Amino acid sequence: MFAEMRSDRTESVHLFTDRVSGLEAIIAIHSSRLGPALGGCRYMPYASQQEAFNDALRLARGMSYKAALAGLEHGGGKAVIIRPAHVPDRAALFEAFGRCIESLRGSYITAMDSGTGNEDMDCIAQQTGHVTSTTQAGDPSPHTALGVLAGIKAAARARLGGDDLNGVRIVLQGLGNVGYALAQLLVTEGAELQVTDLDAGKVRLAIDELGVSPVAADAVYESPCDIFVPCGLGGILNMGSINQLRCAAIAGAANNQLADAESADLLDSRGILYSPDYVINAGGLLHVALTHRGDSPGTIAARVRQIGSQLDQLFAQSLAEGRSPAEVADRRAEAILYPDG
Ligand code: NAD
Repeated sequence: MFAEMRSDRTESVHLFTDRVSGLEAIIAIHSSRLGPALGGCRYMPYASQQEAFNDALRLARGMSYKAALAGLEHGGGKAVIIRPAHVPDRAALFEAFGRCIESLRGSYITAMDSGTGNEDMDCIAQQTGHVTSTTQAGDPSPHTALGVLAGIKAAARARLGGDDLNGVRIVLQGLGNVGYALAQLLVTEGAELQVTDLDAGKVRLAIDELGVSPVAADAVYESPCDIFVPCGLGGILNMGSINQLRCAAIAGAANNQLADAESADLLDSRGILYSPDYVINAGGLLHVALTHRGDSPGTIAARVRQIGSQLDQLFAQSLAEGRSPAEVADRRAEAILYPDG
């Protein structure tokens, strides 16, 4: 465990149990250099405690990079609650977790993530103020979608000669909370949109409500388009899928899109512009962090829109230095997080 923490440069990991509610939770604080660690709380079953530990570490590190490049005064953290087979009282479990967070005295602030919702955050809020994305604070997904739209326009500026999306061919994978909101925005912009989701009901709804065209989930990579927009799960950009792609740029919300570092180089060698995921999808984090700080909706929306100009700069630096945008983003984040190397 210590070796993994050292290799990820993780500051601390906190383990919690609560006998009454059955809670088993891990909170990883990757960095507190820029401020209190902020990051969501996952609630899912894990095959082993080691797997849960690794997940918390990997995700906390990702949050540090995302917050650093978003210009936030926050470090990265992540909580993992191991979902038991049977939960007699979900509210009691999340309240117990709230007491764990309170014991860390503000060094970690939680938010919703896979498997948790606003109501769970409300339960946590009964016990601590170090929580965001409660029912009152709202869902960050539409703000993530707004940031991704700004990023798609930056990709269009870089590869299509302008950011008018009217008639631009876009293939969107995943019509969940972010993907569906983004599809609505893209249709308003006049994009020629093809969509896919593993859930046929979501595709049918998008066809009926938005007038978009469907594409089969297994034909999504080879479908010719200007911009491919992944909004499903991570790990989808690998040697197999990248060789099938027939697009000029990739700009989507999904976390951890690149299966490995080599995938970024392969995209570069194929001339496909990749928008680093933790830069383009930071709108939700900005909303969560700035709402917690008490900023106005107008201020938050302006910060989310800046994701576009941030990507303009990142693409220009990538071109000038002959390094992939993913590498440029990592180096920039590391320069902020580790100024002394
Ligand atoms: P979600 O669970 O609401 O939606 C994901 C959708 O993608 C689902 O409808 C699912 O059926 C579909 N999907 C998954 N794999 C697919 C595949 N191979 N082909 C087609 N469809 C597929 O999740 P979300 O909140 O919309 O988030 C989407 C992605 O964006 C995730 O990777 C998430 O980690 C990331 N993200 C979300 C936010 C946010 O604010 N919600 C912020 C940053 C990053």
